[in-house]
Amino acid sequence: MAGVTRADRCPGVLRPHLAADGAVVRVRVPGGQTTGSALGRLSRIAQQFGTGDLQLTSRSSLQIRGLPDPVRMGFVHAVQRAGFLPSDTHERVRNIVGSPLTGITGGATDIRPLIASLDAGLCAEPRLASLPTRFLFAVDDGRGDVTAAPFDLGYRAVDHDYGWVLLGGAEQGLLVPAGDAVPTLLELAHRFLTASQKLDHVWHIRDLAHWATTIPGVRAVLLPPRVTANPLGAVAGAASVQVPLALLTPAQAATVEACASGSVVITPSRGLVLSGAARRLPQLAAVGLVHNPASPWSVISACVGAPSCASSLINTRAYATALAQSGSSPLRRTHISGCERRCGAPTGAYRDLVAPRDTELLALLSETP
Ligand code: SF4
Repeated sequence: MAGVTRADRCPGVLRPHLAADGAVVRVRVPGGQTTGSALGRLSRIAQQFGTGDLQLTSRSSLQIRGLPDPVRMGFVHAVQRAGFLPSDTHERVRNIVGSPLTGITGGATDIRPLIASLDAGLCAEPRLASLPTRFLFAVDDGRGDVTAAPFDLGYRAVDHDYGWVLLGGAEQGLLVPAGDAVPTLLELAHRFLTASQKLDHVWHIRDLAHWATTIPGVRAVLLPPRVTANPLGAVAGAASVQVPLALLTPAQAATVEACASGSVVITPSRGLVLSGAARRLPQLAAVGLVHNPASPWSVISACVGAPSCASSLINTRAYATALAQSGSSPLRRTHISGCERRCGAPTGAYRDLVAPRDTELLALLSETP
């Protein structure tokens, strides 16, 4: 079967992962670009078949948990009808992150057409279904927000007409006309497959030492300083909110659907940007979505933990909630993990609290006023 020639366990809609709380599927949303009505439809599917929440990932995907094992075909067909499964063969390689505010404010150009074109190009090439499902494309509109995190192949716009195709990080690449970006990215994906096909456990370009330097024309890239944080609140008429614990509840999804008249972007920092919805921020806040950068939820995150994950010794979400409500800690990015895998940990510097090593500290932090 395409895409499963290696021990490659990232879930998809057609290839669920079995967790302690049932089957989990991951729905890819290239660039995080969707709409309020599509999100609402997926939320209702999650309520009908699973726990009801939509779990946001750092790749701007959405996970649905608590599904029966095996997953019912009625669920798969519902996801297809909602427009989230355009390709059976390529669903798990449609891993594309993009600058969340592109086309709304800032950046050198609007990269949404490029994201759509890259997704279509990927799905049109049968061989690319064999890419590792951890392989990540990052499309950056020039502000440096998504090419700051690890990725495999990327594009960072210089202006509307040119940009850097980046290989294995932001340090090396090829300067290309914008119109050549997608063909170049697809060709490099083919070259990666050729170079890695006989090797075990090669998931990323960085696993192939010096491979990028063998590509004709690749040179060192010196890019302007990166932008890290996605601002919260009213941003150029859009509403930018954080989703606490990265779990979008049915009530929150319904409110997003009601408030969003245009695009909705799922951000890699597990938030949502609703274009043109800044005046609806009070309604979004009323259902627990966070628009105040001073909120502890803007810096506290957790893996899904117990009881959903059998590897966890603690209820990470309960600790995170207690910590957020305690008012005990200065605002500092903190991630709570139920084991050393640190699922969902943020990129960059953060306070790393892992069970069982830090369970006592966690209890202390969340109890101290
Ligand atoms: S970090 Fe460990 S405990 Fe948490 S979700 Fe991942 S595997 Fe489970």
